[in-house]
Amino acid sequence: MAIDVTRGRVAVVGSLNMDLVVRAARLPHPGETLAGQAFAQVAGGKGGNQAVAAARLGAQVAMIGCVGADPNGAQLRAGLEAEGIDCGALHASQTASTGVALIVVDDSSQNAIVIVAGSNGELTPETIARHEAVLAAADVVICQLETPPDAVRAALAAGRRLGKIVILNPAPATGPLPADWLPLIDYLIPNELEAATLSGLPVRTPEDAASAAAALRLAGARNVLVTLGAQGVLAALAGATPGDADDAGDPVHSVHYPAPQVKAIDTTAAGDTFIGGLAAQLAEGAAIDAAIRFAQQAAALSVTRAGAQPSIPRRAEIAA
Ligand code: ADP
Repeated sequence: MAIDVTRGRVAVVGSLNMDLVVRAARLPHPGETLAGQAFAQVAGGKGGNQAVAAARLGAQVAMIGCVGADPNGAQLRAGLEAEGIDCGALHASQTASTGVALIVVDDSSQNAIVIVAGSNGELTPETIARHEAVLAAADVVICQLETPPDAVRAALAAGRRLGKIVILNPAPATGPLPADWLPLIDYLIPNELEAATLSGLPVRTPEDAASAAAALRLAGARNVLVTLGAQGVLAALAGATPGDADDAGDPVHSVHYPAPQVKAIDTTAAGDTFIGGLAAQLAEGAAIDAAIRFAQQAAALSVTRAGAQPSIPRRAEIAA
């Protein structure tokens, strides 16, 4: 693929799922069979969504991940390639099927989701080592927690060793992160539920988020951005100057960025859009303050549209 020197480069290490989405009046009870209203099969997985977001929002993106050698895997690969994403480090497992998310959405927009990780579970530290050149070529490395922890840790460590801007979206969060991960991360970006799980503190308001972020910084995270849905983002940044990521230990610079007010239709992939947009900006050399504002505009646009990947805007749609 031709290299465009004007665009930042983002490597995404993460999950790819085929989302099987059904709509029904309500969620079924155990043992019950319900008639649904609609069915859709769409590309998903936090890794894939964030890769698409970073690409649409301006970055040159490479994906490290694992699909199955099956039609779902081929479809996911084709979808990423159609976005111009480099899939040279996207493996096709011979033993596991492509990850699947079974999603039921009811009339009040509640959902119930079962994810079978499948081939996503085959991402290993060896896969990361084999594709170190992909990380070395990037400005920003993004990971989430839908792939095995030892592979995530290997990617974070390689990103840090190679001097990249390292982002971890700790989703889904099941408990505190291993203490030795935190110094490997430049930007830890949980949503409010994840921030609560990681810190052990309740997170409902920007003030709560500031307390949780401060606790996570005390534990070793450099910069913490807590996304708060319609309440925006709470950023706890290292150093006196926003964007100065190397001053861990300096006074905390904590800023609340209210979200643009929009009419929300469907908030699926808002967080993924925010992270992809932020990464695309940081990869271009933007300061963190400008990167957060850009990413919020992109995420706010995404919630005005239905669906996950279809809702992710393109760069030209974001006001300068
Ligand atoms: P996740 O999808 O991971 O739960 P959030 O719901 O916190 O993430 O959303 C991520 C970001 O998307 C928010 O910080 C905000 O900038 C934007 N966003 C989400 N919901 C809305 C909304 N209703 N109105 C405006 N912006 C929103």
